[in-house]
Amino acid sequence: MPKTRGEIKKNNLLSCAACPKFIEDNVYLKCIYCFKNFHNLCVGIASSDKSTGSTINTWECPDCKVARKRGGDNSNTPLRGATATYSPPTISDSAQNVTMRRREMSPQPSLTSTDIRNIIREELELVQNSLIDKFKHIVRDMVKEEIHSFESTIEATEKAIAFLNDEYDTIKKNLDMHLQNLSEIRK
Ligand SMILES: [Zn+2]
Ligand SMILES: [Zn+2]
Repeated sequence: MPKTRGEIKKNNLLSCAACPKFIEDNVYLKCIYCFKNFHNLCVGIASSDKSTGSTINTWECPDCKVARKRGGDNSNTPLRGATATYSPPTISDSAQNVTMRRREMSPQPSLTSTDIRNIIREELELVQNSLIDKFKHIVRDMVKEEIHSFESTIEATEKAIAFLNDEYDTIKKNLDMHLQNLSEIRK
């Protein structure tokens, strides 16, 4: 029996997908999904009903209808499955996760003291590293601030020294002048 889309095989006649006979009176239905041709009578439609003939392009064969319904059911099933996994299975899943987490958390008897020590060491190293990082940041900030204030202090000190130098120079000049005056008077 020709199966490939039920198309022409002999004498330019279409074959029916439901029975071994060819479609001779040109009254048939073509499925819009599988493109197979059917005698109207083979799919339970009166052959006199011309309106359901090959010109109709919305007809769906029983096989495809069933398959699509199943498909529809299938498309519903994941939803049902999804809601199912969202309610009770999720609980069991999370319960499993919890038990797994508990297993990870609590030291099992199969864990040796060395294992536990290693785990604790690793945890401590993690904490240490993060603390060191934080400490580094804090110190960096502090040093930055310190350097900044130190720089401004140096700047202020330099100004003060320069000022004192000037003052000293004037005082020394005045003093020299006075001393000179004094020595002249004594002469
Ligand atoms: Zn037929
Ligand atoms: Zn079909």
